[in-house]
Amino acid sequence: MLAASGRLKRSVVDYDFLVVGAGFAGAVLAERLASQLEKRVLVIDRRAHLAGNAYDAPDARSGVLLHHYGPHYFRTNSDRIRDYLSQFTRWRPTEYKILAWSDGRYWPFPINLNTFEQLLGRPPGSCTSEEMAATLEKWRVALPDNRPPANSEEVIVSQVGMALYEKFFKNYTRKQWQRDPRELDPNVCGRIPIRTNRDDRYLNEKFQALPADGYTRLFERLLAHPRIDVRLRTDFREARAQVRYRHLVYTGPIDEFYDCCFGPLPFRSLRFAPETHEVPWFQPAVQVNYPNDHEFTRIVEIKHITGQAELPWTTILREYPQDYTAGKNEPYYPLPTADARALYVRYAARAASEPNVTFVGRLATYRYYNMDQVVGMALAEFEKLKTSTLQAGR
Ligand code: FAD
Ligand code: UDP
Repeated sequence: MLAASGRLKRSVVDYDFLVVGAGFAGAVLAERLASQLEKRVLVIDRRAHLAGNAYDAPDARSGVLLHHYGPHYFRTNSDRIRDYLSQFTRWRPTEYKILAWSDGRYWPFPINLNTFEQLLGRPPGSCTSEEMAATLEKWRVALPDNRPPANSEEVIVSQVGMALYEKFFKNYTRKQWQRDPRELDPNVCGRIPIRTNRDDRYLNEKFQALPADGYTRLFERLLAHPRIDVRLRTDFREARAQVRYRHLVYTGPIDEFYDCCFGPLPFRSLRFAPETHEVPWFQPAVQVNYPNDHEFTRIVEIKHITGQAELPWTTILREYPQDYTAGKNEPYYPLPTADARALYVRYAARAASEPNVTFVGRLATYRYYNMDQVVGMALAEFEKLKTSTLQAGR
């Protein structure tokens, strides 16, 4: 039953599972436990809505189905993950195409053959992939002994050289992470494809689509099972004294679970600044990245991909990177550095010996994961819980 938001009653209530967090990790596990193992599940979230960071809702003035916590472009290479979610949503196929703003003009981004032509001042369609590959070969800075890149500067510079790195990556990354790219794992900037063809999509995965009725609707369906209760605006610290449960599924920040006993894990936060404009469109693409201008990193105009082109007005969202302080703002990104990972490993070691608790999701496992990866992780954790539940005969 999808209960209305509200606080827990004073009396103690009994469940098989308490799930902390109504994002992808928590909702998928709750759905599986209820529908496949017939468990009674209570899902709580301290926010006032379902869907965690994937939450979307129509903007009050424009009606645009706004992604309140930044753009959530669903993509996956996994048929299994797509098929699982397809039980709860239809899809709106879409290709995410974005631009970068640098040196006073728009650039096709990620770097591709069109970007290359613009860079050389050549007419569209006049360069070949071979020409671009040969030029990048001259510009790129090879790593000693062709070793793999060790950080986020090397991963880009070893492909396209210093000038393109400085034009598109260096300052965006500093703004976003408040770290030099040399301090960050190679897979941070390595997430961005670099292509010598004309494929100008932001992402590589074979399935790229949005839930046809939005993410929040998808979550309502995930959690609609009669054995699932949901309580919003409810913190685990408050709920733990009022709920009896056999097993806990925890999707919040792992350091918080242990009262930061080894010290706080570093997360990055963001301030989202929405703005409604009384015009049909604000910018030429769903996302424009600003590596070198302004304090924000990007402006997202999600209306480009929500299928709402007929709406007369539009709503945009600017993203301002921020330091994270527990209790003050939200922990959006685990910090992909060696130090932070070493600290996480200490928490993970403690978590491994925790009886009857499953840590799952982006915050609890401190992984820079996309939605599909989190769904995959939750499905894998479900299989483990299924085995242990069946073995224990409960
Ligand atoms: P969350 O969605 O963070 O859910 C965890 C929930 O737990 C939260 O709602 C939180 O309120 C709740 N919680 C935490 N502690 C407690 C507590 N003590 N008591 C009660 N509740 C608690 N992924 C993509 O695939 N494509 C994208 O384009 C994309 N864009 C992104 C853009 C931004 C700006 C961000 C921040 C993330 C983006 N992601 C994207 C990643 C995506 O948001 C995550 O992979 C996914 O939401 C993680 O799900 P989760 O359940 O692990 O965590
Ligand atoms: N990045 C960059 N310039 C860009 C876009 C991304 O330097 O124009 C780097 C930056 O470090 C960013 C990372 O690549 O944090 C990953 O970008 P992505 O858009 O995938 O980040 P997310 O959507 O997860 O915030």
